[in-house]
Amino acid sequence: MEMVETTGEQMDRLDVVAMAPHPDDLELCCAGTLAKLVKQGYRVGIFDLTSGEPTPRGSVEIREAEAEAARQALGVQVRINLGLPNRILMDSPENRYRIATELRRYRPKVLITMAGRTPAASPDHHQGHLLAEASRFYSQLTKWDDRFGGTSPYRVPQLVYATVPFDAEIRHWQSTFVVDISDTFEQKLASLKAYGSQFDDARYEMVKHFITGHCISVGATCGFAYGEMFALPHPVGTSNLVDTVLGRKGPIAPDQLPGENHLPMA
Ligand SMILES: [Zn+2]
Repeated sequence: MEMVETTGEQMDRLDVVAMAPHPDDLELCCAGTLAKLVKQGYRVGIFDLTSGEPTPRGSVEIREAEAEAARQALGVQVRINLGLPNRILMDSPENRYRIATELRRYRPKVLITMAGRTPAASPDHHQGHLLAEASRFYSQLTKWDDRFGGTSPYRVPQLVYATVPFDAEIRHWQSTFVVDISDTFEQKLASLKAYGSQFDDARYEMVKHFITGHCISVGATCGFAYGEMFALPHPVGTSNLVDTVLGRKGPIAPDQLPGENHLPMA
């Protein structure tokens, strides 16, 4: 249960925390967005729930070094490992307390979680999704400070789902949106390349192939060269339709008519 700290500036408040069961999960799902948030001036943290070990070609030490290299590739300020058990990660009260304690320490405005079942891959992914929702709720609870290391209650204002690439099941997400990662896609690839124990040269080329195609396909739905897909646990609420659909810095969706050139690279 020991927390492994990989940077020297842990306890400053974070704007965004992204969490997933294994080092490399978030890199696959949303690394371009995490790098972009850093570029935009936000303080971003990654919570790896487990070491990801054992795996056939890894070790705890190798995975820690790879996760740190990926952190540097993305420029993310903080990365911690919560030391929960890989392969048997479960949505349990004790694990909720553990994660909620870190949310109460770092007090992020946004919590991003890898989301979605992976029926043909690790069951940890779905459990991590459930843990993120439950620990966000627990984080705000009063009169339980002793279960959270004496930290004060804190409500994380917003939960965001980072959707799993290559998902074979049809999801019915609410409020999906795509982040333009055209300017950070190379950083995403660099962060994946850092995981040599999981992706040897041949596997990396395969992952690069599929991730590139996926991000192009997702980005194309909104006229971006590369994109990552997110969702919210509820509809988008707004009192201003125009601000919502146009945004402050340009449209959130293609505003061109069919037939116009609207792809950035076109
Ligand atoms: Zn995983």
